[in-house]
Amino acid sequence: MKVYFDNAATTAIDIDVFEAMKPYMLEHFGNPSSIHAHGRQVRTAIERSRKKVADLLNAAPAEIFFTSGGTEADNTAIRCTVSEKGIEHIITSKIEHHAVLHTVESLAKRGIKVSYVNLNDKGQVDYDHLEDLLKSHPNTLVTLMHANNEIGNLLDIERVGEMCKAHGACFHSDTVQSMAHYAHDMQELNLDFAVGSAHKFHGPKGIGFLYINHENKIHPFIHGGAQERNMRGGTENVYGIVGLAKAMEIAYADMSGHRKHIEELKTRMIEKLRNAIDDVAFNGVSDDLNQSLYTVLNVCLPPNEDNDMLLFNLDIEGVSASGGSACSSGSSIGSHVLAELNRDQNRGAIRFSFSKYNTLEEVDYAVEKLAKLYQPETA
Ligand code: PLP
Repeated sequence: MKVYFDNAATTAIDIDVFEAMKPYMLEHFGNPSSIHAHGRQVRTAIERSRKKVADLLNAAPAEIFFTSGGTEADNTAIRCTVSEKGIEHIITSKIEHHAVLHTVESLAKRGIKVSYVNLNDKGQVDYDHLEDLLKSHPNTLVTLMHANNEIGNLLDIERVGEMCKAHGACFHSDTVQSMAHYAHDMQELNLDFAVGSAHKFHGPKGIGFLYINHENKIHPFIHGGAQERNMRGGTENVYGIVGLAKAMEIAYADMSGHRKHIEELKTRMIEKLRNAIDDVAFNGVSDDLNQSLYTVLNVCLPPNEDNDMLLFNLDIEGVSASGGSACSSGSSIGSHVLAELNRDQNRGAIRFSFSKYNTLEEVDYAVEKLAKLYQPETA
């Protein structure tokens, strides 16, 4: 059996997304900047896609800018806001994705003051501390992710948006993991910037978008031609854009159905693991369905001499999972997110992340294989 439980890393493309993209690879290959018929046809497809994304987010098409993915969108929002809006201070957290963390660190080297909001033992933001930081620093950009990609913790973005508004701070949220999994309403959220990346919701890789609230006027991060209404130089990734919009449309068409199915998988895995492995626990609040991203479960395993080989051993059994985004070697060592949690370093960590394509049978299979690694040796 081959089981893919690494959907927070990337998801399988939906066949209907692929079908929607195909004509823009084969037949409609014009450059959208060209004014002839071949170009115009493709331009229309881009603008139709932009409108679709905007409608789903209850935003205006002029607030959606296509990028090469989440990383570029995060960089654009943070760097351009700092350089153009007189930002002197950034509030972020130590468990952001590197697309944010490394961007902020590079700005700190150039003299921007950075404050890291306190987190509790489970990696949840201390909202009182955030309030204090906002009170004592004018000209602030807050960049806090909605859903953590490793442990699934959710931020109360409504609350943080209100706080930022009250203190006149800009608010960027890395919404890569929650986009198209939750129905974000840009009229309701006080967000200046939000981010989407198609490959996290069954769309193609290498395409994403930045939502920029219309009250923010910033200049391009990538300079070049006049594409994206002068906001992002470079010939558009037309089939990527078409695929992104189609993937978002499919996600929204049955968001509650997908959520229900995935929550069932997650609940089953939590229960089965609790029954099968003594002393199993969960990192962050990923076992609390009300406070975590429903697609992510980060399991904290008892100390075991083979914990370093955990992912490798599961891989041999046909189960693809992850130890954390920074992990490429088959162990959980190196996760800057887990390092911030108050946890026993001898314990193993494994992230299972689910999609609409996963089944209960796959959950049962993965738990059985994982549990085998924790059973006492019998002579
Ligand atoms: N932010 C988060 C929370 C992510 O999980 C990822 C992808 O892993 C990114 C940003 C980067 O997105 P992309 O792969 O589209 O550059």
